[in-house]
Amino acid sequence: MDRDNILLTPGPLTTTLRTKLAMLKDWGSWDADFNALTARVRAGLLAILNAQESHAVVPLQGSGTFSVEAAIATVVPRDGHLLVLDNGAYCKRMGRVASLMGRRTTIASRAEDAPIEPADVERLLAADSSITHVGLIHCETGTGIVNPLPEIAAICERLGRGLIVDAMSSFGALPIDARALRFDALVAASGKCLEGVPGMGFVFIRHEVLAACAGNSHSLAMDLHDQHTYMARTGQWRFTPPTHVVAALAAAMDQYEEEGGQPARLARYTGNFDTLVGGMAALGFQTFLAPEHLSPIIVTFLAPDDARYDFKAFYAGAKARGFMLYPGKLTEVETFRVGCIGAIGRAQMQQAVDAVAHTLREMGVAPARTVRAHGGTMA
Ligand SMILES: *Cc1c(COP(=O)(O)O)cnc(C)c1O
Repeated sequence: MDRDNILLTPGPLTTTLRTKLAMLKDWGSWDADFNALTARVRAGLLAILNAQESHAVVPLQGSGTFSVEAAIATVVPRDGHLLVLDNGAYCKRMGRVASLMGRRTTIASRAEDAPIEPADVERLLAADSSITHVGLIHCETGTGIVNPLPEIAAICERLGRGLIVDAMSSFGALPIDARALRFDALVAASGKCLEGVPGMGFVFIRHEVLAACAGNSHSLAMDLHDQHTYMARTGQWRFTPPTHVVAALAAAMDQYEEEGGQPARLARYTGNFDTLVGGMAALGFQTFLAPEHLSPIIVTFLAPDDARYDFKAFYAGAKARGFMLYPGKLTEVETFRVGCIGAIGRAQMQQAVDAVAHTLREMGVAPARTVRAHGGTMA
């Protein structure tokens, strides 16, 4: 097979040939052409959120987690107190990031199969006036669940607390409008729903917040205020930029616009999701989340309840047929995940479902007939 495997993962993900080809050029990091490319990407990112008036966008080298860490380091003062709303693995990672850098951190955990309850957030904030900031994961990629961002943003605004949103796996696909909701910082990255390649993140920071956060960061490399100040003055990144990643992102964003922007991307991912969930249900698979909590970003399936099932063999079988699945991230139940995002459509997703069916047959595994823990059995 001379085609690349299709990545059914939450990033890196399958990119188009045009995006890959954009990387076949070397750029000088100080050169005006590259500065113009950076400026174009930043303007395009602000437009996706309607944040041109309210926010600056600061790019940062590294994987998405680097930008989550930088956002907290830059926006939460050293004597601040961050409340992390936790219903999954990426929430727990945000809590770890904040406490390791020495910020006072409270982690409010709830079950992984239910969205964060706005009423709980309101109660926690009302009970503790020392909490200065709230950390929220928009789409918790560990399960695929989407948390109620607009409701939680409204509570933070009303109670006068800052909000830091990890929108890594939702940005560009799910609607977020900076004119309709208030957040201090929102973090995303090149290699997710914009369908660029991995290697840089970016953080939208509200102008008033950015102006007041000089000196917050304990770390030079993570200091987004410093990165922004330098970029505003010179048009350049502070340290060596991931030039090829920026070029690929610019090309990916051109295609995003041509496709029709966020509504079109969501529509394509929803088509992928429908094909996936419908096809897998026909094979007997159940989702970990109840149907009303599923998102067209990534879907967690319960592993078949069959002694012959083994994720490694299952993965190898699907890969031999051209599709890369993703392991589960849950501790109590055995699961695997399938991403709906990337430069793929319904046809590829149907082929993926067929690859799963053939792999199960080859393994001698009966179609999954597991029972979802929180109710609802297969018909
Ligand atoms: C992908 C992702 C990240 C960043 O992960 P990296 O491996 O550092 O790129 C952070 N949060 C969420 C919700 C994600 O989906």
